[in-house]
Amino acid sequence: MNSNQIVIGIDIGTTSTKAVIFEEDGRIRAMHAVEYPMLHPQPGWAEQDPYILFSAVVQSIQGAVYKGNVSAEQVKAIGISAAMHSLILVDEHHRPLTNCMIWTDNRSSKQAEQWQKTKRGIEIYKKTGTPIHPMSPLMKLMWFKEHEPHVFERAHKFISIKEYVLYQWFHQYVVDYSIASATGLFSLQAFDWDEEILRLLHIDRQQLSQLVPTTYTLRGMDKKWAEQLSISAHTPVVIGASDGVLANVGVGAVLPHEAAITIGTSGAVRTISSLPKTDEHGRTFCYVLTENEWVVGGPTNNGGILLRWLRDEFGAQEKEVAKRLGIDPYDLLTQYAARVPAGSEGLLFLPFLSGERAPYWDAHARGTFFGISLRHGREHFIRAVMEGVCMSVFSVALAVRDVTGPLSEIRVSGGFAKSTFWRQMLCDMMGKELLVPDTHEASALGAAALALYATGDIVSLQEVKSWLRISSRHEPNEQHTAIYAELFDLYTRLYRQLKDEFRVISSFQSKYV
Ligand code: ADP
Repeated sequence: MNSNQIVIGIDIGTTSTKAVIFEEDGRIRAMHAVEYPMLHPQPGWAEQDPYILFSAVVQSIQGAVYKGNVSAEQVKAIGISAAMHSLILVDEHHRPLTNCMIWTDNRSSKQAEQWQKTKRGIEIYKKTGTPIHPMSPLMKLMWFKEHEPHVFERAHKFISIKEYVLYQWFHQYVVDYSIASATGLFSLQAFDWDEEILRLLHIDRQQLSQLVPTTYTLRGMDKKWAEQLSISAHTPVVIGASDGVLANVGVGAVLPHEAAITIGTSGAVRTISSLPKTDEHGRTFCYVLTENEWVVGGPTNNGGILLRWLRDEFGAQEKEVAKRLGIDPYDLLTQYAARVPAGSEGLLFLPFLSGERAPYWDAHARGTFFGISLRHGREHFIRAVMEGVCMSVFSVALAVRDVTGPLSEIRVSGGFAKSTFWRQMLCDMMGKELLVPDTHEASALGAAALALYATGDIVSLQEVKSWLRISSRHEPNEQHTAIYAELFDLYTRLYRQLKDEFRVISSFQSKYV
């Protein structure tokens, strides 16, 4: 790549699509994001309109190209990252029969619950690396077969949003190994659709897209679209991977055992593995990055959304004060939390406000404050919530470590990383050094890096490390680590003891809410 060339990373996410123009050293020249709504036609369903998603992808590229003042010849390549687990059924005229069901869609919770318990379900997880969960397209397809067989029967293809976009541009149905590996239909060992699972669904491999490596390059974009995007139809479009695995690349956690921890609205711990690995207890996922690299990890539902919940439901006073002081209410909340010692003087919080994915995969789990006494005030509750989020992330990290071995280097990102205090809390909880890379738009950067790797402009994804500055490092405070170890033990015991009671309160809630 010469110095006036750029690479475009596209990140088709849950709330928006972002197109980011990167210079040769990974610096962002321009970006443009286009948001879209989530549709909930029934409780627990979560869909998006494929036409709107596609138009957002187009508009985001147009906006970024315009803002970055990029000419068609300057575009070295385009790389694509997309959210995992989406599903669209299309007919033989390539028209969507359904909206795009996204990962938060819960309609198949009954199917998932039934399959989770069976030996066959565990075998499927081990074969595919995708946990048996309503997020998985496999479970969504089971739901369709049962509840909307007429739509299921009419489906010519079962595709994800990335395949939908690529079909519009190139008139081909292709899917990268990475997105495929998060469908629940893909064999990690064979790098192929799993015949046994297809038979179970009564679908034919012709109804799925052609599988290709994550470095697969498409050329010859439909001229109409190339014109609309102000790029050449010959520009290499590298298919890329899923947003989760590319986020690891984008923060520079690219070698085996290097881990990325993200805490945004939700949270995740992910590490690179040089072999596909699954967990005896079904706690972690395993998705493809390249043909030699896999990402093992686990997502938690209960990340920064808990501090947002606290701010919005109980923090009216803090919002007022923060407004007067001209600061972010989150900063005020974390200042309050810092007034009480590590361990919140014995106030413990189980943070499962929206059930939990890894490591427990328990949709019925609920939040619990434990150990409340008259001594505890506002600050304790805030700190306990922040500690609870760290404990849930730590419990995922322990499960990942069990599967892949020790985590050698941990890089953190996401909204929580804006708070030095919260980062230090996580560092103390983990008892390990944490690095904070100066990274923005990690998945788009990962997609751009993979595109340059595919074009031969970089020899290894490790090159991303040299693009990123480490803006700070945290060392654990041993005293705090010891306090948290004691509390974490109680946390896991409490969860186990309350597991059955969580089912009771959750069914009570569905009856009366
Ligand atoms: P998303 O996952 O939706 O992209 P972000 O990565 O922006 O979300 O993270 C949002 C979360 O980050 C908030 O819910 C909040 O918990 C946390 N957060 C944002 N700013 C701060 C801050 N200044 N201090 C502490 N936490 C923060």
